Amino acid sequence: MNQISDITTTCVIAGAGPGGLMLGLLLARAGVDVTVVEKHADFLRDFRGDTIHPSTLEVMEELGLVEQFLELPHTRAPKLTAEMAGETITMADFSRLPVKHRFIAFMPQWDFLNFLSAQASGYPNFRLLTQARVADLIEAKGRVTGLCVETPDGIVEIHAQLVIGADGRNSVVREKAGLTVESFGEPSEVVWMKLSKQPGDPNEVMGHAGPRQGLVLIDRGDYWQCGFVVRRTTFVDIQQKGIEAFRQGVAAISPLPADRMQEIRSFDDTSLLVVRIDRLTQWWRPGLLCIGDAAHAMSPIGGVGVNLAIQDAVAAANILGQPLREGRLADADLAAVQRRRSFPTKATQKLQLMMRSSRRKDETTEKTAKGPPAFIRGIARWPVLAHVAGRLMGLGFRMEHVRPNRR
Ligand SMILES: Cc1cc2nc3c(=O)[nH]c(=O)nc-3n(C[C@H](O)[C@H](O)[C@H](O)COP(=O)(O)OP(=O)(O)OC[C@H]3O[C@@H](n4cnc5c(N)ncnc54)[C@H](O)[C@@H]3O)c2cc1C
Repeated sequence: MNQISDITTTCVIAGAGPGGLMLGLLLARAGVDVTVVEKHADFLRDFRGDTIHPSTLEVMEELGLVEQFLELPHTRAPKLTAEMAGETITMADFSRLPVKHRFIAFMPQWDFLNFLSAQASGYPNFRLLTQARVADLIEAKGRVTGLCVETPDGIVEIHAQLVIGADGRNSVVREKAGLTVESFGEPSEVVWMKLSKQPGDPNEVMGHAGPRQGLVLIDRGDYWQCGFVVRRTTFVDIQQKGIEAFRQGVAAISPLPADRMQEIRSFDDTSLLVVRIDRLTQWWRPGLLCIGDAAHAMSPIGGVGVNLAIQDAVAAANILGQPLREGRLADADLAAVQRRRSFPTKATQKLQLMMRSSRRKDETTEKTAKGPPAFIRGIARWPVLAHVAGRLMGLGFRMEHVRPNRR
């Protein structure tokens, strides 16, 4: 590849996911020259985190964008339910949250990202480069000073005061920066697929517990997004047994009719998510900071990944906006972002690990044959816990607020 023209910007962000685009929007709004680079040509990717939690809706409210945002097609869940021994129980209730929008909005991630990108593009100091894959870091005297990016036209060097790694759980930026990753618990697998939604299907279903636990159903309007949790085996083994055995396995725990499973024509209609819980011990190096999944991959429990990435972006913009604009960014500012977001990350991961190990313990003692995991039984017994779960899931352990623009 030939080298084409280089770019100089104030902040370059690797990855136009929820974290990267929200940070790009907020920094542009704060008057910082910002360039976001994304390896894909567009945002059309299936089976991504599609949950917009009340904390993210509050951010949109604070930006004055929520009404326009909620005009996009979405479904609303004011509470999340699960089936237990044939009964529907409320797992998380958002109705008492101290925010304006007390529901989860399920919206395809590409609509959310297109919306953020359109808003950010309204600022002349915002630039999005698509089909631009980060290949390497540029460094000088122990400091990261930019990114080397592959584009269809050749290599572009982007020089910046600050590089943000928002390139997800397989982050190239964090790997090239040599940041240390700590992993927690065993990885697990979830197989995602789509099944059509038809008259007579159950309402307001999110997950299934009791005899039917292991299948997550998300109502996407005209179809169900289904997540099959792989237990006591691996996806490779499942594939070896063939598609018909897989259809039967899903049908056995699904509230949908068995013949609906014929819609899964082959394993090409499925998408595997390897669930990992990890985080960086240090999220930054001089000239570089990681946020979102690049700093901490979450389990899908609670669907908090998108919303934590957004909260990281808000905190980063609040702390870094002014120093970046004034050209006086210091390492202490980057450390301050990690300090601010470390507690909610660790607390959420701890909770996810506790829920996972409670389920695994029940599985090894074969309690699942008799009933659902302990935490679901607890919520069924004390309904007030559904409000506590709603608070932790909907708002998280530390909610960030968008600063008014005082430029
Ligand atoms: C199947 C699945 C289901 C999920 N379900 C949920 C859910 O229901 N709710 C929820 O909250 N979370 C869910 N998650 C997790 C959620 O999607 C992530 O936590 C969230 O998107 C993290 O946002 P992010 O901006 O940090 O990273 P990402 O969304 O991963 O975005 C990273 C971006 O960087 C780009 N990129 C990667 N490498 C490079 C490179 N070298 N150069 C340039 N660009 C690059 C990627 O293309 C991507 O656009 C799910 C994830 C998966 C995979």
